[in-house]
Amino acid sequence: MTALPDKVARLVRPEIRALKAYHVPDATGLIKLDAMENPYTWPEEVRSAWLEAVRQVSLNRYPDPGARKVKESLRTALEVPPGQDLLLGNGSDELIQIICLALTRPSAVVLAPTPTFVMYEMIATFTGMKFISVPLAKDYALDDAAMLEAIEREEPAVVFLAYPNNPTGNLFDRAVVERLIRAVPGLVVVDEAYHAFAQDSFMAQLSEFDNLLVMRTLSKQGLAGLRLGVLAGAPAWLNEFDKVRLPYNLGSLTQASAEFALTQRAMLDEQAAQICRDRETLYQELAAIDGLTVWPSRANFILFRVETKSADQVFQALLRAKVLVKNMNATMPECLRVTVGMPAENAAFVAALRGALK
Ligand SMILES: *Cc1c(COP(=O)(O)O)cnc(C)c1O
Repeated sequence: MTALPDKVARLVRPEIRALKAYHVPDATGLIKLDAMENPYTWPEEVRSAWLEAVRQVSLNRYPDPGARKVKESLRTALEVPPGQDLLLGNGSDELIQIICLALTRPSAVVLAPTPTFVMYEMIATFTGMKFISVPLAKDYALDDAAMLEAIEREEPAVVFLAYPNNPTGNLFDRAVVERLIRAVPGLVVVDEAYHAFAQDSFMAQLSEFDNLLVMRTLSKQGLAGLRLGVLAGAPAWLNEFDKVRLPYNLGSLTQASAEFALTQRAMLDEQAAQICRDRETLYQELAAIDGLTVWPSRANFILFRVETKSADQVFQALLRAKVLVKNMNATMPECLRVTVGMPAENAAFVAALRGALK
């Protein structure tokens, strides 16, 4: 009889066994500033209208496999250019997975500048693709020459560019991004998860580049619990990717809720504008603290480095003060990332941080 660990080791691919499962910490009782969520909930009358919309859903029936109504609403809301199509996913994470599943083959490469969103590398690994990272340059700008060199050498099937980038918060130079799109033999996915806060997009460029796809999500704008990601681009690409999508990847409740949420865009946009104003206040307060390096952000979070203490110590001290941020130390020495919360939450965080740095 083979022991269970040996059976597992024999069957599960070594690259999967080498991974650590994506860790989500328990935030019970904490001020939650770790996951780029929108801190604002909906007023009672909006909640009631949403529940009324959800009441109409027939849970005994399968959802619309093409999510046609949501797609039509999204087409307008996202200003998708004519001739371009949409593919919807259970969060943009699922869209990254769908893209990789469609492109994977022995030796196919996923390329991204790093540090960046960790799911690009994780999903490349899950799907048996090779992940190539190119370090970002000073202040986290794209390293133009290094990217072009890597693109020529690796001929990636797909390049992921988070715009703005997570966890650094900056927008890459548009001209450099366009040069890369021209240079890449495969696809370029511009991941605009933080579009609500950056207000800068490649959506209008879809018609200019036939190897460009633009990805959005409702998560960072207040609907993280819903799980709805959007991929926009040429039907020739999306029709192929659609074959890999599981037929009912978006449940009826998600579809009905998303349709409803899209009728509340003025409220969601106002929340995003409020978060942008609070981001600037928080940035100024952090920049005024001795012993920190703070990077400007076009997203709903701020990256900073502690110069006089260890990030691990500061992270633990913040936790004792009931504030949860993201400790980036494992991949970015002495760095932490804080999500912009409500003003009182941001103030509690700044006070706790000052205490932690004493
Ligand atoms: C948060 C995030 C996502 C994930 O979005 P979901 O739609 O919630 O899966 C995608 N890309 C980037 C860069 C992110 O930071």
